[in-house]
Amino acid sequence: MAGEEGLLEVEEWLERERRRARTRRKTREDRKVEEYVFDIPTLECLYKLAQRRIITAMGGPVSTGKEAFVFHALSDESVTGMKEIAVKIYKVETSTFDAMHEYIIGDPRFEKIRRDKRSMVFAWTKKEFRNLKRAADAGVRVPNPIAADRNVLVMEFIGVDGVPEPLLREVANDLDDVERIFKDVVSYMRRLYNDARLVHADLSEFNIMAEGYIAGDKIRPVFIDMGQAVLLSHPNAETFLRRDVRNVVTFFRKLGLECSEDEILEMVRNGGRKEAERE
Ligand code: ATP
Ligand code: MN
Repeated sequence: MAGEEGLLEVEEWLERERRRARTRRKTREDRKVEEYVFDIPTLECLYKLAQRRIITAMGGPVSTGKEAFVFHALSDESVTGMKEIAVKIYKVETSTFDAMHEYIIGDPRFEKIRRDKRSMVFAWTKKEFRNLKRAADAGVRVPNPIAADRNVLVMEFIGVDGVPEPLLREVANDLDDVERIFKDVVSYMRRLYNDARLVHADLSEFNIMAEGYIAGDKIRPVFIDMGQAVLLSHPNAETFLRRDVRNVVTFFRKLGLECSEDEILEMVRNGGRKEAERE
């Protein structure tokens, strides 16, 4: 899907989107065809990012999910240090408020948010930005976050020339060093837990990208989609961690690796200390 629409100057793109927002038709059928329509505040937010030269050109969507769209875009390298960026735009209308709430309650970083949908989505966007930052600081390979404003998150683009790297899920049968990739994944989980003090809470082969695949290099896992990631102080952090471990173990077992959930859980939780002892 990437690059299908070509790159447009942000102004031009915004003008087109404004037109679409004005003429949007209401039937379900039309909406499917249109795929996305942004509200005016979202377009204004993108406009501001363009004025700051964080975004210089918008490309096509690389993903149109339930909760968010992800676009390929270009940036002014002298401003962000990157040429290619990903712009994740959370939907305000269709956001699942209750589901989000479960992952935000008890987080001291977001104690004072208002209990309406809009505020929740904005907090969610900021939360993903902060989570990515914490993860990156702890040495976990994630898209480097650049900016978060309202429902728009700008981050490093994981891909080449507008083409996103595949998900681990999509290249599962095309991996020649499964064990090494597994070890990388577990070591990221360990760093996330011990150093960033976060649990991803939606970790699986669907939220790990396979960097290097396009170039035919060795594959380096990249954790993505961290809006729901919680601090260890979250009441359900341990439950989420178990689920993450189970997902990862199930995936790699299918690829022929022998590993047990308990063993990996132990490695993630206490591996920090063990690693220090080894070194
Ligand atoms: P979904 O419901 O489809 O999982 P989501 O709302 O959970 O979507 P993400 O998982 O963050 O959103 O992103 C959706 C897809 O967009 C990813 O599977 C990936 O293919 C692509 N993507 C996300 N972030 C980036 C990035 N930084 N660089 C390149 N592609 C990305
Ligand atoms: Mn996802």
